[in-house]
Amino acid sequence: MTETPTDGKTSHSRKTVFSGIQPSGIVHIGNYAGAIRTWANMLGEYDCTFCVVDLHAMTVPYEPDQMRRRIFDTFVLNMAAGLDPERSRLFVQSHVPEVAELCWILMNCAAMGDLNRMTQFKEKSERVSGHINAGLFTYPVLMAADILLYKAEVIPVGDDQTQHLEFAREVARRFNTQFGDTFPEPEPLFSDVPRLMGLDAKDKMSKSLDNYISLLDDEGEVWEKLRTAATDPARVRRTDPGTPEICNIFTMHRVFSPPQDIEWSADGCRTADIGCIDCKKCLARNMNEELDPIRARYAELAAHPERVRELMDEGAARCRAIARATMEEVRQKVGIR
Ligand code: SF4
Repeated sequence: MTETPTDGKTSHSRKTVFSGIQPSGIVHIGNYAGAIRTWANMLGEYDCTFCVVDLHAMTVPYEPDQMRRRIFDTFVLNMAAGLDPERSRLFVQSHVPEVAELCWILMNCAAMGDLNRMTQFKEKSERVSGHINAGLFTYPVLMAADILLYKAEVIPVGDDQTQHLEFAREVARRFNTQFGDTFPEPEPLFSDVPRLMGLDAKDKMSKSLDNYISLLDDEGEVWEKLRTAATDPARVRRTDPGTPEICNIFTMHRVFSPPQDIEWSADGCRTADIGCIDCKKCLARNMNEELDPIRARYAELAAHPERVRELMDEGAARCRAIARATMEEVRQKVGIR
């Protein structure tokens, strides 16, 4: 029998997991390998809640129509890439408004000094200079509210999110000290999937830097992007031996290829038995094999937007049952009920 998450309370037999993804509208292979595929592999082992974090996306300038489209696309892509709504709670953040109330309450447990130290705020505010708003500054409090509303115990994180998670742990500690034991301190779960750099191999893969392969790129686009992607810069001629460990294409092999192809590319690169085009063709084949079913599922789901909206509503209803119970407890403890 398939074990499904319980509604209105979290399962006591499995640890609770929470994570979120921004509705950028594009899910690239770095998001997929580092987050969604990892989350999909957790479905049997953990009690999982996953979220499209649209409220977080409002902290930088955006167009409302574009936002609507991106929320829909990101939700569908998450399902297409393996987040089965029957085996997890998949929802859109703003569809559970209790998170905004908890965020406000937690603002009063958050230290300005801690918020001032957030490196992501400094980086993001440089990128959107002239549009720096209070939401961008208090973003970590909303993230803490996301996590604590569902009393999540385990948070899959990348290296760039550890500071935010430590902040959420500190907020939980402060709340528990002031109002009594309420929230578990969430633990990080680090992925062992190697982090993909962008196709230029200079920066991390990102939509804004246009150095990515999207989950929805077709086979021709995948090949064109891989064909021109950066490799080991010391391997100038076909006869030059290379160093796979410093090549982003080899990192992609480690993410998408079976062990025999990983070994073939590493050995062939070191001995110059293979050229970079051979190596990339093998990678493109393996990558497309994994992306083909995702593209097909996306097309099938996106063709039925009404059904997608029903699934969004169902996911939100299941999350609200938990959120309401948490907020009843929180309101009592902080003295407003
Ligand atoms: Fe990179 Fe493959 Fe070329 Fe080696 S053969 S440099 S691993 S693309």
